[in-house]
Amino acid sequence: MSTLPVLIVGGGPVGLSASIFLSAFGIRSLLVERHPGTSIVPKARGINARTMEIYRQFGVEAAIRSAGLPPEKSGLIVWTESLAGREIERRVPGRASPRNQGMSPVANCLCAQDDLEPVLRRFAEAQAPAELRFDTEFLSVTQDADGVDAVLLDRRTGVESSVRAQYVIAADGNQSRIRRLVGARMIGPEKIYDSVNMVFNADLRPWTAHRPSALYFVEQPDLRGTFLTINAHDRWGFLIHSLSQYGYTPADFTDERCIAMIRQAVGVPDLPVRMLGLSAWEASAFVADQYRHGRIFLTGDAAHEMPPTGGFGMNTGVQDVHNLSWKLAAVLRGEAGDSLLDTYHAERQPWGTVTTKVALDNCLSMGRTERQAGAKLPRAEFLSEQGLIFGASYDSAAVIPDGTMPEANDSPITQYIPSARPGARAPHVWLWRDGERISTVDLFGPWFTLLTGPEGAGWREAFAGRAVAYTVGRELEDRDGLWLAAYGLAADGAVLVRPDGQVGWRARSGIGDAAGVFDGVFESVMGL
Ligand SMILES: Cc1cc2nc3c(=O)[nH]c(=O)nc-3n(C[C@H](O)[C@H](O)[C@H](O)COP(=O)(O)OP(=O)(O)OC[C@H]3O[C@@H](n4cnc5c(N)ncnc54)[C@H](O)[C@@H]3O)c2cc1C
Repeated sequence: MSTLPVLIVGGGPVGLSASIFLSAFGIRSLLVERHPGTSIVPKARGINARTMEIYRQFGVEAAIRSAGLPPEKSGLIVWTESLAGREIERRVPGRASPRNQGMSPVANCLCAQDDLEPVLRRFAEAQAPAELRFDTEFLSVTQDADGVDAVLLDRRTGVESSVRAQYVIAADGNQSRIRRLVGARMIGPEKIYDSVNMVFNADLRPWTAHRPSALYFVEQPDLRGTFLTINAHDRWGFLIHSLSQYGYTPADFTDERCIAMIRQAVGVPDLPVRMLGLSAWEASAFVADQYRHGRIFLTGDAAHEMPPTGGFGMNTGVQDVHNLSWKLAAVLRGEAGDSLLDTYHAERQPWGTVTTKVALDNCLSMGRTERQAGAKLPRAEFLSEQGLIFGASYDSAAVIPDGTMPEANDSPITQYIPSARPGARAPHVWLWRDGERISTVDLFGPWFTLLTGPEGAGWREAFAGRAVAYTVGRELEDRDGLWLAAYGLAADGAVLVRPDGQVGWRARSGIGDAAGVFDGVFESVMGL
């Protein structure tokens, strides 16, 4: 039996993204998904700007935008007594403020999961050397020092087979079998509220088109729910939460009852409505204590389950596999030591914990876990979490500190302070190349990138062949004169950006032995 480099279990957004990322690094993978096709449920819809930067890096951004809605069709958040009744409040989410939009060359996108996954599948299948097998269920796994043996079931034929892989990415969602098999301990509250998500056809434009919003909350004494924008025309979701607090169980939601509730929430008793589907789910807010279990890595909802309040679950998962993929590629290509893989847990688990806590605090502030007599609007941080979107900063063996302290930030959830301190996301600055404007963010990936100041020639020579190098002031023009200050560099300084766009190392100014420093930098980041 030949050994496969990577087995990906789960063909949700996280597994499909992992397949695309690994192929871009030339790493062969097999993805198995137990369902015959991609999701038929529009769960996640909000893809934040950081995740869209990542999809842009891999050439998928434009296709996602054409499958989704432009920001101007979903820019607000609205609270009403009913869609046709009194409006309680409307907010422009902080994420949409001009200052925050200026933090990235890329805007967020609203694209429902059942529209997104076919796009990801198309890209994953088009890219050799990936293989995707639907209707294939992962059953069990054992691992030894050299690899992992997994048992798979072909659900069409009922035939079981084994595959041997060097590594497994567990992207098998919130019911993760792998998570149980490896004995991961989940930290945090489980099953904090229950919910049903309806999908239906109805033309809601008369009550929505003049106030385009991603979410329309309905607050009535006996009905609290949320209209979820999908195509902003005739396809919508309606989410009822906290069922048990209102005396419901999912079984109560017959088509007739769903239609009656939708009409009540719109405030139009004879509104034509056609039900398309219903899914029941429970929100938890817990995170695996360990993301790495030998050769098995927990990612996405298998690693962390969070309430959807804030729209972080899928985004965090895609960013998990973005972090993991280049590390697996480096180890599989023999360019890095095994300890680089430990930094996946060291970097992503603390961030998953912070994000899950913010999602939980959002949901508590909205009274999702209790019965409310009247409207309860969320805290101001809700959908203004700019610090969470761009502010992930890692402290691990794959980051070389430069002795500077993190920037003071009195509101780390809502406020992103751009910084090129090692560990942080390399900030967006507009530069010019061959007369065209380009963002620094678009220079990063697929492998390491070295950016030096105009007098950083020594760094360029030292890093030659190991990183794509640019001198700002030579092939890149800094017409606004902002880059050196934004990156905290003198003219002879340099910064090494990892394949995931995070800063791995920074020399704020030049030193004598650039070649000697270079060896130490790579050995350290790569765990050699
Ligand atoms: C109402 C709602 C709204 C949400 N809104 C947002 C949002 O706006 N933004 C956001 O970022 N997140 C949002 N989320 C969360 C988001 O949906 C999840 O975080 C996301 O789906 C996680 O992706 P995943 O690939 O890790 O898991 P999943 O999407 O659950 O995919 C896991 C896949 O693994 C497969 N699988 C499981 N077990 C096996 C097995 N044994 N063998 C083979 N295949 C297997 C499953 O069939 C499934 O296809 C929302 C969730 C809900 C419920």
